[in-house]
Amino acid sequence: MPSIDGFQCEHKWVHLSTHYDRKSNGYVIMYTKLDTFFCEKCCETREIKREGQGYSSDPEPIWWRH
Ligand SMILES: [Zn+2]
Repeated sequence: MPSIDGFQCEHKWVHLSTHYDRKSNGYVIMYTKLDTFFCEKCCETREIKREGQGYSSDPEPIWWRH
């Protein structure tokens, strides 16, 4: 029986949720997108964060639209 220490999960990531946020300091907007995944085999979770800036006069970035 393999020990838990040597256990290597071949993760199967399932998308859980996406969180969108934006902060403005006037002219510049900081966009944040946070994707949360969990492994349906070992239940480990991970987050993938993406950040970017844009001017308030510009349209929202494509990756941030929802
Ligand atoms: Zn896993």
